[in-house]
Amino acid sequence: MLGPALALAATHFGFPLVYYIYARRWLRRPWGVEPRENHTPTITIVIPTYNEAPLIEAKLEDIARQDYPPDRLQIIVVDSASTDGTPEKAERWARRKGAPVEVLREPQRNGKAHALNLALRHARGDVVVITDADSHWPDPQTLRKAVRWLADSSVGAVTCLKRPAGGRGVEATYRDYYNVLRLAESKKWSTPIFHGELAAYRKELLEKIGGFPTHLGADDSHTAVLIAAFGYRAIAAEDLHCVELVPRRYWRWRVRRAQHLIQSFAASLRLKTPARFKPVLYAEAYLHLVNPWLLPAAFAAAIAAGPPGWALAALGLALLAYTPYRTWTAMQIYLIAAAIRNLWTKE
Ligand code: GDP
Ligand code: MN
Repeated sequence: MLGPALALAATHFGFPLVYYIYARRWLRRPWGVEPRENHTPTITIVIPTYNEAPLIEAKLEDIARQDYPPDRLQIIVVDSASTDGTPEKAERWARRKGAPVEVLREPQRNGKAHALNLALRHARGDVVVITDADSHWPDPQTLRKAVRWLADSSVGAVTCLKRPAGGRGVEATYRDYYNVLRLAESKKWSTPIFHGELAAYRKELLEKIGGFPTHLGADDSHTAVLIAAFGYRAIAAEDLHCVELVPRRYWRWRVRRAQHLIQSFAASLRLKTPARFKPVLYAEAYLHLVNPWLLPAAFAAAIAAGPPGWALAALGLALLAYTPYRTWTAMQIYLIAAAIRNLWTKE
């Protein structure tokens, strides 16, 4: 009985393939927003840190290279009880450069979103830009480009496209497909996946949604979803690129990220969202919450089907030699591991 195994495998591989082909057609659409040159709202950049001493100076240097009127820029480092002297290092850097960096300290670590909410209370900018310490903006025009999109009143939040530093094979392949989808979804209306490397929000909207969500891990993506639910577009822009450092403990990092996305999508399904956001939100929720499980189910069904099924299972394993397929399979395993790990820790 090969039927069940084939049906499961066809759904598992077919759905994302159809979604990808469909989404690529959205890429040809116009943006339907009017970015404005020389739009320079006041900006608050927030760098959340927990034990980032090796990286914080390079991150501040990176921001200092941005071409933006200094009198329209506030820079906040918000630290949560680092034990490696991160906030002192940030203060020393600011004094040395004569740069107006505000360093906020939380007496204990309650997570990134909690720290971001403290920074939000100190933010004076009309736009709040979050950027992780372990990330980098190669283009000095990044800030200017980001706020251009926010000049359009329909846009509530903007994020970048991502490039891994040092291009690890699997991570780099994954990002190619990934960026196409983020862009396509953004052109359709909004993407439910945002990036901590650069997430720019209208401050008034952050306040309306009650600040950054502290009850789940993916503060960046879930904030974007909440803003979309509010009726504003949350987009990944084609001219914004950021680089993230891929940690050495790759597998643990991926599972943590996947855990956070699963938490965000599970919570998103309970929200009332605009009709034009639903196809993207539901497709992505399905891809993150349900579709991964069809792969081991297909494998098990093939094994149970006797020799023809074993041949099918063997084919599934042999294809692992092919990089895109291996990348895909790895991501499915991360998502399954993440769903299981979510049962005992949301961290
Ligand atoms: P990942 O990229 O999702 O794996 O998360 P990271 O560990 O790189 O964290 C993203 C950013 O948030 C980094 O700049 C961290 O230093 C910072 N961060 C993580 N946890 C906390 C926290 O509890 N408090 C503060 N203030 N920042 C944090
Ligand atoms: Mn990181």
